[in-house]
Amino acid sequence: MATTDSFTSNAPNLQKYLSLDQGGKIIAEYIWIDSEGNTRSKARTLSEKEYKPENLPTWNFDGSSTGQAPGDNSDVYLKPVAVFRDPFRLGKNILVLAECINSDGTPNKYNYRHETAKLMEAHAAQEPWFGLEQEYTLLDLNDRPYGWPKNGYPAPQGPYYCGVGAGKVVQRDIVEAHYRACLYAGVNISGINAEVMPAQWEFQVGPCVGIEMGDHLWLARFLLNRIAEEFGAKVSVHPKPIPGDWNGAGLHSNFSTKDMRQEGGMKFIEAAIEKLGTRHAEHIAVYGEDNEKRLTGRHETGAIDQFSYGVANRGASIRIPRECAAQGFGYFEDRRPASNADPYQITGIIMETVFGAV
Ligand code: ADP
Ligand code: MN
Ligand code: MN
Ligand code: MN
Ligand code: MN
Repeated sequence: MATTDSFTSNAPNLQKYLSLDQGGKIIAEYIWIDSEGNTRSKARTLSEKEYKPENLPTWNFDGSSTGQAPGDNSDVYLKPVAVFRDPFRLGKNILVLAECINSDGTPNKYNYRHETAKLMEAHAAQEPWFGLEQEYTLLDLNDRPYGWPKNGYPAPQGPYYCGVGAGKVVQRDIVEAHYRACLYAGVNISGINAEVMPAQWEFQVGPCVGIEMGDHLWLARFLLNRIAEEFGAKVSVHPKPIPGDWNGAGLHSNFSTKDMRQEGGMKFIEAAIEKLGTRHAEHIAVYGEDNEKRLTGRHETGAIDQFSYGVANRGASIRIPRECAAQGFGYFEDRRPASNADPYQITGIIMETVFGAV
């Protein structure tokens, strides 16, 4: 797996098959989240129709091969929850995001969508909006960040953030392809930028309403991994891919409600932040693994064991954007989540802390 010669795509040869007529059938790629927070997928043929989650068949997979079920009761159901256009197969072909359900009908242990969907529904009148900033690092097949010298390190950070030019950014083709694929698929992607550490990039998804935040972010993650596969690159969402004086990777989570977005909204923003301060440890517990390597209080982070907030403060747990403070309403940014956190868990616990459990 770790060798470069496993890369065998022959795109020109493949082309003539991709334009063949599909004979009234479509291909539906079912996508789910495994026990380690990776996406998995498999495809099936369906008759050509307009599909919504409700009229798509429930399917299943072998959960014993993904760490999601024991071998003696291995079938896990795939329950369709969202449909997107397929930017790879084009035409009427679709991508189907699915929840994992056990054979007895209960949500699978790694299905974090189920509970969060209930919270979103219970508090729908608040009109919760989320915007997540996914940072990630592109690695070669030997797990070295792209463009880094074989032995040693690049020049110190500074020129790379939003960098333009050779020696400052790498693999822009992947970033651009991903951006376009998200737009085509129907993912609510709002932007991209090169990050502080060389070979690190970010994309933003949102604002999304309620449960759509998790759905769209997971679809965007799937697309990124699938596209990077074509380019022979690996995507790392480790929160501190390189130890030392190199920025880690986060999943900054921006949040607002109807009340916060209106004149006088700052008092609702402050009330929410106060509640977040009372449950810091509970949030950190679901904000990603290895996050202690990233939340050091340096490299634009707040310390993992201290809750703090401030206007325009990128060294705090919570940042109120300068523009929002100036106008007196808007949204706030929870800077604590790590790049490998689950967006369903993040958005779920924010709703629970601010509006109560269901
Ligand atoms: P940063 O300055 O922290 O790098 P970005 O521009 O990368 O900010 O990301 C800001 C995110 O905030 C975007 O995903 C955007 O969709 C989201 N956002 C903007 N307005 C709101 C809002 N009112 N409520 C929730 N999210 C919002
Ligand atoms: Mn089989
Ligand atoms: Mn950002
Ligand atoms: Mn960033
Ligand atoms: Mn941010």
